[in-house]
Amino acid sequence: FPYPRCNLRPSFYKLFQPTRTQCTQELFSSTTDDNRRTKPKLLVILGATGAGKSRLSIDLSTRVFENSEIINSDKMQLYNGLDITTNKMTMQERVGVPHHLLGVLDPTKPACTPSVYRKLGSDIISDIKTRGGMPIVVGGSNSLIYSLVTKRFHPETDVFNGSDPDPVSVELRYDCCFIWVDVCLPVLNRYLANRVDEMLDSGMFEELVEFFRSGEDKKVNRAGLGQAIGIPEFEGYFRDFNSVRRPGGGDPETEVEVYNEAVKRIKYNTCHLAKKQVGKILRLRDAGWELKRIDATEAFRAVMAADSGGGRVAEVWEKEVLEPSVKIVKRFLDE
Ligand code: ATP
Repeated sequence: FPYPRCNLRPSFYKLFQPTRTQCTQELFSSTTDDNRRTKPKLLVILGATGAGKSRLSIDLSTRVFENSEIINSDKMQLYNGLDITTNKMTMQERVGVPHHLLGVLDPTKPACTPSVYRKLGSDIISDIKTRGGMPIVVGGSNSLIYSLVTKRFHPETDVFNGSDPDPVSVELRYDCCFIWVDVCLPVLNRYLANRVDEMLDSGMFEELVEFFRSGEDKKVNRAGLGQAIGIPEFEGYFRDFNSVRRPGGGDPETEVEVYNEAVKRIKYNTCHLAKKQVGKILRLRDAGWELKRIDATEAFRAVMAADSGGGRVAEVWEKEVLEPSVKIVKRFLDE
């Protein structure tokens, strides 16, 4: 795998913390378009893994809305457990914005299907609307987003996978504003490889040690949390070595090699996931979904530039990502 381990530890969350500056917004549609007026407004943030969706959702929540709540649409983050491995936002990073469907499902029970997600998500959206809030759907699992927002969802269809996927429906049951956070793939790949190292440094390995030692790996549903990147890649390592800490100098060469191979595969699979997710987003766009693309590449370049301090990253993020997103959302709310 072409991406070397990097000494930089770029983390959006740590580089700039959001502040709570807010303004009031009309939360229900007042569009002149009859068809849209009757539908509840919904903000949806799409993008590949690591592209900055969570960061943007928090920034929009705190900048634009007086009262917004986030609904997770990442398949693996639905389940309780493996918070570091699946990259869930910490309570600190959520800065008080309510989050739903984040770490709430039992990973030993049958995996959450798109149909189940559709029901769970729509009930939460109704509740948020009743409270006068704006629901923001955020996550990389496009099949979940699709199931949630389409007017008629047929569980037997698959619009993304297979040699002859079913047609994408453009009939939606919400008045959606879709923001697609995009980062050019070579830049995102570099970032993701660094992020894996950062996750391992911040406790992912220890989390997996506990997961395998306690036998959780045998209990979790293989069609659910059991698919999280990190588990299959480390399975062989934990089967063959009884380690509780990451191997280093002094450990047998084979252990170090097997460990390094697992990390390499995690990096590769994460980059592969990002590419597949972008393919699915393009499929939605090509079918006629009105996605507003925000190019976050420069912000990621700034994060990874050796000479950049947090200040420059915040500045680029603000100008290239946040400001255009705020404009899109305000226009959407005014429609
Ligand atoms: P599909 O249409 O194939 O079901 P999807 O878009 O619904 O895909 P993705 O979110 O792309 O689902 O997830 C596909 C796979 O990527 C998961 O099964 C898992 O292996 C991995 N994955 C996704 N999100 C995470 C995460 N947060 N942590 C670890 N692995 C993840």
